[in-house]
Amino acid sequence: MTLFPLFADVDGRRVLVVGGGDVAERKVKSLLGAGAHIVLGAPSLTPALLRLEEQKKIETVHGEFEPGWLTGAWLVVAATDSREVNRQVAQAAGQARIFINVVDDPALSSFQVPSIVDRSPLIIAVSSSGSAPVLARRVRERIESLFDHSLGTLASLAEKHRPAIRRLRPNLSRRREFYDWLLDGPVAGALRKHQVQSAEDQLLNQLAKASAKPVGKVILVGAGPGDPGLLTLKALRALNEADVILYDRLVSDEILALARRDAAQIPVGKIVGEDHNATQQRIHELLLAHARRGERVVRLKGGDAFVFGRGGEELEFLSAHHIPYEVVPGITAALACAAYAGVPLTHRDYAQSVRFITAHCSKDDAALDWASLAREKQTLAFYMGVSQLEHLSSQLMQHGLAATTPFALVENGTRPNQRVLTGTLAELPGLALQHTFKAPSLLLIGEVTALASELQWFGESINTAPQSSDTSLSQAA
Ligand code: SAH
Repeated sequence: MTLFPLFADVDGRRVLVVGGGDVAERKVKSLLGAGAHIVLGAPSLTPALLRLEEQKKIETVHGEFEPGWLTGAWLVVAATDSREVNRQVAQAAGQARIFINVVDDPALSSFQVPSIVDRSPLIIAVSSSGSAPVLARRVRERIESLFDHSLGTLASLAEKHRPAIRRLRPNLSRRREFYDWLLDGPVAGALRKHQVQSAEDQLLNQLAKASAKPVGKVILVGAGPGDPGLLTLKALRALNEADVILYDRLVSDEILALARRDAAQIPVGKIVGEDHNATQQRIHELLLAHARRGERVVRLKGGDAFVFGRGGEELEFLSAHHIPYEVVPGITAALACAAYAGVPLTHRDYAQSVRFITAHCSKDDAALDWASLAREKQTLAFYMGVSQLEHLSSQLMQHGLAATTPFALVENGTRPNQRVLTGTLAELPGLALQHTFKAPSLLLIGEVTALASELQWFGESINTAPQSSDTSLSQAA
């Protein structure tokens, strides 16, 4: 079936809806949104439809379908739960040459209603020609995620200033340039931040200038722990709009694969032999160089940029150099690893707080307050700790945390090769070594981690904790 796509102007035009149930109600609502004059025919109506009838927003005919209902209608929608009635309506509509949609029945329909992405006045419609509505809905979801909700506001703004844009940019290619700037530049950025007035001011300023000079910007994006499904819609959109992507070692290939095809991808992870500060300096210079060229730079980091990600330093640098920026948060490793290992980070009975700790400088004894970390009723989440498990566990035990405290060590959390090791604090270094756990691994310590053996639902689990509730057993082991 090859369909001809069209957008119908039903404003003020009669549209017959046959049926008075939930499905009819949904159709009525979207038709009313487009200004249709609705005639609804059915033996009985849902409460919401009755209200619309009462408020005189729709005209109604009560009873069984009769072909006479079709008189004067431009379109018909049949939404009854009886195929026989739907068939009669379809037949009568066909005879009267009125386009009909029978909900979920392409065979009886002469028009289909597409799935839509609504960024009014911009509307994107998707149809599978009636063959697979589920597929159309999937595609719609994808598209939905590509376009920010502020796009509608942007379209309205462009519409409002269209005469001025034509007047001040009479040359077509200058005008195109202006629209590109409008869609990709600071106006769209301001709208995403709901700064409507500032967006309009910038539009007018730019319009008054002789020609548009591109303005670069940096978007600091948290890519999450690895599973691309954990990217936010905003992160996905930033990847789709990027000119250049500077990414860290922890960012997974699946995520990079989602980026705009012709975006340059530059790995900026630590080079072997280079120290961290030199790496950071190099990153700052790259950010500056690309942004000054007017590019949209995505700075992509594992997890969240503000959790052990040096995101703050990068923003300070950008701010000092007057480069505009935005920040898109990501799901940090502690949250993701806990979720995928079945460890609730807080629990009414076992933990009233969670602490995110970097083990990176833990050998520097002044760095961490071991006594406070060794307290009970809290969950500890150690980042960057695999190489220091011996030190971590012995410090915690020396400061009073029980040797039997359970832990969960999550390697490659949320990725297909995720492994979760569980056991008790005293055994932690030995077990991790025995099972060769490597970075990236996140270490969770606290009573809640015992739940992993019951609640883990993703990846491989290596459970060494004693099954019995008798803790003296594990102490002996
Ligand atoms: N900004 C990141 C953390 C960077 S520090 C975030 O918010 O997640 C790097 C450490 O994060 C690693 O050493 C490891 O402890 C942890 N980590 C990051 N991704 C991980 C993953 N997929 N599985 C386990 N740990 C991870």
